Amino acid sequence: MSIATRAHGLEEVTRFADEVRDTVHERDAIGTYPADLVPRMAALGLFGRCAGDLRTYALAMEEVGRAWLSLVPIVNAHSTSVWVIEHYGTTAQQDMWLGPFRGGDALACLALTEPHGGSDLASVRSSATRDGSGWRLNGHKTYITHADHAQHMLVLARTDIEESRSTRTLGLFLIDRDQYTVVRKLPKLGTISVETCEVTMNDVRLEGDRLIGEVPGRGFPQVMDALEVGRIAVAAAAVGVARSALWRAIERVRERHAFGAPLADNSFVRQRIATMTTQIAAAKGLVQIAASAKNDGGRHDVETSSAKVAAADAAVAASLMAMELGGGAGYTEDLDFARHLRDATLFLAGEGPNTLLDSLIGARMVEATPDLAWI
Ligand SMILES: Cc1cc2nc3c(=O)[nH]c(=O)nc-3n(C[C@H](O)[C@H](O)[C@H](O)COP(=O)(O)OP(=O)(O)OC[C@H]3O[C@@H](n4cnc5c(N)ncnc54)[C@H](O)[C@@H]3O)c2cc1C
Repeated sequence: MSIATRAHGLEEVTRFADEVRDTVHERDAIGTYPADLVPRMAALGLFGRCAGDLRTYALAMEEVGRAWLSLVPIVNAHSTSVWVIEHYGTTAQQDMWLGPFRGGDALACLALTEPHGGSDLASVRSSATRDGSGWRLNGHKTYITHADHAQHMLVLARTDIEESRSTRTLGLFLIDRDQYTVVRKLPKLGTISVETCEVTMNDVRLEGDRLIGEVPGRGFPQVMDALEVGRIAVAAAAVGVARSALWRAIERVRERHAFGAPLADNSFVRQRIATMTTQIAAAKGLVQIAASAKNDGGRHDVETSSAKVAAADAAVAASLMAMELGGGAGYTEDLDFARHLRDATLFLAGEGPNTLLDSLIGARMVEATPDLAWI
């Protein structure tokens, strides 16, 4: 158990992660949904943890990522709803949803991306039009994580279709499982035990209280704020995957011999292990910096994006180096190396593609003044 998890009272999460890790090889090979593990994650308080100290939340997500990445999107997708209701919901919405949502008794997925594009969220076409005191929702979303098993979906939709490119005409609506249809589950490279879906909403009548905050036009800043917490969670999970790949590689080079000595004695092998270790440690530090900044409130584009980019790169690099050190076995499914690499590639696109986040970091930094910049 790491010093960090012990110091933050996360021993139970670490024990859970160790237990899952012992069965992950079989679970991932079958690719079935982890129905037995979801209630256990609820009992560990993982579904409400983003409402507390984000540094501890990040450490918890790192542990879950270290165990099995397929579990992370289930928590992360749901946590967006917890965050937006906690920060932007009306008192009535908080009274109604926060209890079951924090406890994991009801789980939500998050529907932003549409078939025509995901990076450019200002182009959302799904629409919510006024219908008396409520709304009528129509839309088409894709790549939606956990959409089939979730009980609710948080949907970004346009409340004024005349303003088709404006970020001020978007709202977040919380809808129920019977108000959307899963039209397709997409086969994919990694995280195969949690579904990624295309969904439609056809002329769904919603009460007025399903718009988060009940004032139209505020969905874009609400979701951008929540996505920063998502980036912290995903970056932390990437550190977890990278740590798992590193330790599998270390185990392997300790026990495997070549040229009459353990691979671990070879200086080139040690250099690879050193590179992985340094990149992972740097990414982990950035995740904690981002979580600390977000704990203080407000928007933290640069910190959260830097953490996500660094951790994604560290996870992909570590998984690739670990596979290389695994030799022929690294490429097979006998050990965990191939799974780590498949799962790690998700980090390049998920929770903001790295190139998009790099654009954002660059823009913020050239606009910043040195006395205000954090770096
Ligand atoms: C497994 C998985 C799960 C997902 N889960 C969800 C979910 O639960 N909910 C949800 O709403 N979405 C989800 N997504 C969608 C994900 O958020 C999008 O794929 C992502 O936002 C990119 O959108 P896109 O695929 O439309 O890429 P596009 O917008 O077509 O962009 C393609 C690539 O172009 C580059 N690019 C685009 N614009 C810029 C720019 N301005 N600067 C620099 N580079 C740029 C990026 O590298 C990007 O990857 C998921 C995706 C995957 C793969």
